[in-house]
Amino acid sequence: MIRLAILGATGSIGRSTLEVVARHPGRFEVVALTSNRRVEALAAQVARVRPRLAVVGDEGASLPMPRAGTEWRRGRGAVLEAATLPDVDVVVNALVGSAGLEPTLLALEAGHRLALANKESLVAGGPLVLQAAGRGGAEIVPIDSEHSAILQCIEGYDRSAVQRITLTASGGPFRGRNPAQLQHVRPSEALNHPTWDMGAKITVDSATLANKALEVIEAHYLYGFGYERIGAVVHPQSIVHSFVEFVDGSVLAQMGFPTMELPILYALNYPERVEDGTLRTYDPVRASPLTFEDIDHEAFPLFGLGVEAGRRGGCAAAVYNAGNEIAVQAFLEERVRFPEMADVVEAALDGVGVHEIHDVEDVLAADGEARSLALRAVKRLERVRTETTA
Ligand code: NAD
Ligand code: MG
Repeated sequence: MIRLAILGATGSIGRSTLEVVARHPGRFEVVALTSNRRVEALAAQVARVRPRLAVVGDEGASLPMPRAGTEWRRGRGAVLEAATLPDVDVVVNALVGSAGLEPTLLALEAGHRLALANKESLVAGGPLVLQAAGRGGAEIVPIDSEHSAILQCIEGYDRSAVQRITLTASGGPFRGRNPAQLQHVRPSEALNHPTWDMGAKITVDSATLANKALEVIEAHYLYGFGYERIGAVVHPQSIVHSFVEFVDGSVLAQMGFPTMELPILYALNYPERVEDGTLRTYDPVRASPLTFEDIDHEAFPLFGLGVEAGRRGGCAAAVYNAGNEIAVQAFLEERVRFPEMADVVEAALDGVGVHEIHDVEDVLAADGEARSLALRAVKRLERVRTETTA
């Protein structure tokens, strides 16, 4: 039995993880589930899988009547406890945003394998995450489909055999539009992703291509390649999940119809491969044609800004990530326009000096400073708009 703690169980990745678990009876035992606020959704999951611990992150949440076998807790401390329970083999971090950093660090220090969906924790605190994994003797197995693809292609090879990796990006719902056409796109259009069904934050990140920048940084930390050896290409069909080019010029790719259940299944069972008869069988004719395009940097500046922040090192990626979290929230609340998200992130990057990261306090300080600068930029943009429309 593989014993699991699932952080962020009520979200898109959390729900898919429970689907995978339900299809393999006798293989997994769910020890703990957490959610942020959605107590009813969590209670329904608890009734199905009967974990020993159920946690609601929100301190003010009212908890359901306790049922036999499950202890209910609330608050940030209890989420961290769920990440470090001693009798757990794999912690699935499916939280969203840099709020996932401390659970990532603690799970790794406790020696647990980390099945990582929460890319923001690696982006914000990459060096700390690697140190925590080293201290705990723990492994990180990515759930992100591109990084799962890379892992599946490089398994068994020495890293020095790899020349270059290329992440694929769907291009999102606004692929092919020019900057002028992006001025007035609504949140509902950004949330309508052509190939993936995901949580709101990552769906907006996919529309701006900030997601691909976060993934370049994620790949840098997971696999240790320099930024000059990590590329990205738009592939609207989302069939090729990434490419690995070796020093002899040979290229491997991992392919399949888009579903997060496959990388989740792989991460939970790694390095074993487990049968799952329900996932759609690959069919090259039905998947045709496969096309590839360059990223349009003019229409999607958040990609270049993010990669540049990754290259700069220190706390710059944490600042980019935090600024982006504020920008996405403001866009969803219709406080800023789609192209203004890049201005909000730039304001954070311009305002916070790049310093080294030594501990989690350094990350939290940069993250906090970036958030307040980004919020100030949101308010400034709102003010300009009310003045010009008045
Ligand atoms: P989601 O918004 O659907 O779910 C997030 C979950 O985390 C929910 O259970 C929520 O209650 C919980 N949560 C949010 N903030 C929290 C906090 N501060 N404290 C405690 N709990 C909190 O998000 P998602 O789409 O499932 O994405 C989760 C992570 O996986 C993100 O980092 C995303 O980038 C990554 N990811 C998602 C997909 C996908 O297909 N959805 C694919 C690749 C990577
Ligand atoms: Mg991805």
